[in-house]
Amino acid sequence: MTQTTPQTVRLADYQPFTHLIQKVDLTFTLSPSATKVKARLALAPNPARPGHHALKLDGEGLRLLSCTVDGVDVAPKLSPTGLTLAARLLPKRPFILETVVEIAPEANTALTGLYMSRGMYCTQCEAEGFRRITFYPDRPDVMSRFKVRIESKLPILLSNGNPVRRGKASAVWSDPWPKPSYLFALVAGDLVSHSAKYTTKSGREVVLNIWVRRGDEDRCAYAMDSLIRSMRWDEEVYGREYDLNVFNIVAVDDFNMGAMENKGLNIFNSRYVLASPETATDEDFARIEAIIAHEYFHNWTGNRITCRDWFQLCLKEGLTVFRDQQFSGDMRSAAVRRIEDVMTLRARQFREDAGPLAHPVRPDSFVEINNFYTATVYEKGAEVIGMLKRLVGDDAYTRALDLYFDRHDGDAATIEDWLKVFEDATGRDLSQFKYWYTEAGTPKLHVTDHFADGVYTLTFEQENPATPGQPEKHPKVLPIAVGLLNPNGDEVVPTTVLEMTEARQSFRFEGLAAHPIPSILRGFSAAVVLDRDTPAAERAFLLAHDTDPFNRWEAGRALAKDVMRRMVTDAAEPAADWLDALAHLALDDTLDPAYRALALRLPGEDDMAQTLHGAGHVPDPDRIHAARRKMGDALAARLGPRLPRLIDDLADVGPFTPDAKAAGRRALRVAALGLLSRLDGGAAAEAAYAKANNMTEEIGALSALLDVGKGAAQLDLFQARWSADRNVMDKWFSLQIAHAAPADAARVTATLTDTAAFDWKNPNRFRSVIGALSANHAGFHHLSGASYRLVADWLLRLDPLNPQTAARVSTAFETWHRYDTTRQQIAKAELQRILAAPKLSRDLQEMIERMLGAA
Ligand SMILES: [Zn+2]
Repeated sequence: MTQTTPQTVRLADYQPFTHLIQKVDLTFTLSPSATKVKARLALAPNPARPGHHALKLDGEGLRLLSCTVDGVDVAPKLSPTGLTLAARLLPKRPFILETVVEIAPEANTALTGLYMSRGMYCTQCEAEGFRRITFYPDRPDVMSRFKVRIESKLPILLSNGNPVRRGKASAVWSDPWPKPSYLFALVAGDLVSHSAKYTTKSGREVVLNIWVRRGDEDRCAYAMDSLIRSMRWDEEVYGREYDLNVFNIVAVDDFNMGAMENKGLNIFNSRYVLASPETATDEDFARIEAIIAHEYFHNWTGNRITCRDWFQLCLKEGLTVFRDQQFSGDMRSAAVRRIEDVMTLRARQFREDAGPLAHPVRPDSFVEINNFYTATVYEKGAEVIGMLKRLVGDDAYTRALDLYFDRHDGDAATIEDWLKVFEDATGRDLSQFKYWYTEAGTPKLHVTDHFADGVYTLTFEQENPATPGQPEKHPKVLPIAVGLLNPNGDEVVPTTVLEMTEARQSFRFEGLAAHPIPSILRGFSAAVVLDRDTPAAERAFLLAHDTDPFNRWEAGRALAKDVMRRMVTDAAEPAADWLDALAHLALDDTLDPAYRALALRLPGEDDMAQTLHGAGHVPDPDRIHAARRKMGDALAARLGPRLPRLIDDLADVGPFTPDAKAAGRRALRVAALGLLSRLDGGAAAEAAYAKANNMTEEIGALSALLDVGKGAAQLDLFQARWSADRNVMDKWFSLQIAHAAPADAARVTATLTDTAAFDWKNPNRFRSVIGALSANHAGFHHLSGASYRLVADWLLRLDPLNPQTAARVSTAFETWHRYDTTRQQIAKAELQRILAAPKLSRDLQEMIERMLGAA
């Protein structure tokens, strides 16, 4: 794991592997401290690499017990990263290589490869975990058919594919579909299942199982329902059917990621499977639905068609995120989903794109691939596909996808392959569009307009900022969706997609009676920062009249940000016209409650800091925090007497349901409760907490209390009630940190890390404490530097055990360059302290170096 001189891997160096693997037979004899793995590989020289080559297999931390070629013992050369068999030891024809290695799953704290989580065996092989299980060409373009035998006395033994045989203390699984090693999975444990049946469109009967610990089986119904809806949706919308007789999902408590799409055996972080009204918030339900769908959709976009190399990660992730976003939009309110997806994109990806960790959707080099499972690859990767779809149109998109599945089924493909199917399906040249994949940074779109003689002209100018390693950029292809409104609020030009390809370009609209009000970038049609000097009155007009729900929300959002900015930079008061417009919208019961709840959510502090930084200011975290609180107070005062009635009107009717409509009512009710507690000192929130019968309400009321400095008694009650439930207790930890005052955040966090329940080796717990501190903007960036120090201390402590999670959480520091020189110096000193630590992992070292590199 530890290397002093990490190697950079480059896209330009790609070569096919020297050999093909026609078949893989694996036998696992499980034992916590000494698991034996026997691997029998049927190899053949790869015609794509002519010549007689040595065989180099990846392997890390493996104890080699034996190695034979065609049954004859051979002596390979071993190194810390793998095994090499010289060409002279190998036949020039197909041959069988057999190795036996020993590994210790219980000692595996990195949670990659084969490891143990509370007595159960499980695996995580993406991206390069399989090399910690056996010697193998651990790269996605080597695809093979796997047969797996598991020997263990544990009752449930699972692997990929279909079950072949079950013995007294063994099981055999066979996967008919060729796959790369990163999709391998194995689970063994004392588990119970929540099961269902599904019949595919063409009549295949599939058994669906969700495997969990005993006692959790009554919390799987929502995940199962989401799975069945995902399977149906993929048949209906993309024509994709499931292709095995069984689909297994396993919930695991100790997991670095959200979930993993291993063929036929998805492994999930338990927090994205287990849900009941008492333990899961509406947000949890929505996330479970989205992640179940995402992993299922990978069966085609990722598994049947995989990536040639890890530089192409966005080929499977961008497309699969795009598909899960479409699915969630169809299951819930499409407008609300779109707004939430854009909020995530801006909060995570725009932040990344504007800092030292900026990289293209398809990077061209990396040191540690685990560091590239980023918002850019996932969320921007999905936005790029959305833009492509907007440019070619829905029908052409469908034709291109059909062609993609036809042409590349069974392939390890590239972004070039992906763009080629669109070119072939539409006759378009996409060479300029490709810059979205190869260049980092969020374009800024400046807009001016002009009206004369019935002609309205919009002029756009795009600015593509420099990013690390990429000083010069090309103009991007931008689909700009525009609608025009009359001063009386009627739409005179419906949504039209303008295709911008130049650095500066004008578009004319003729035959207009009056100067129209433009609604630009409807539905957030391109992933850009829109920069237009818009008068507040025009924003208020769009907030009241825009027919595009995204832009209507966006107008309110922009208005709120303008207000907050003036409060931060000019010590202004919350503007009355903003308060009036927002109050009007909040009380408009012709609108979807989920939408009204979103409108009431004030811009986040990190988002505001990002916006101020982008506009050339040095953001002051304390002032931003104070302004946001003041806006909340003003809004509460403005809505004042209407709040209790609003809360009553939104009371649940009938028993709890997790659907979007009921969730939207709860979201607005909880938002109103939060405002009301600013006025009544938390009295209504205390009452709501006492009678809450679902987690959304429980957390909502508790948050409202913590926000006004109350809630100590409720925190104790919460802890007493939920201490045995790890997923619920994660909320107890993160909530206290999220609501801590800026000056207290580090102290509150440090106190929590001293409690026995702070199991820091569990990634969920680590993230809900250390991750929560970095998400408390004013608390993390407090001038004392206490939070910077605390987070750095914990990164140093976690890194030797779990480099992957340590590296992810280190992105807390990616924005250090935004702030004043005092904060910069403290943060920089902490980053340098981490870098100076002996035996830093390759993962964390790369992240810290990149973050410091932009100084
Ligand atoms: Zn994925």
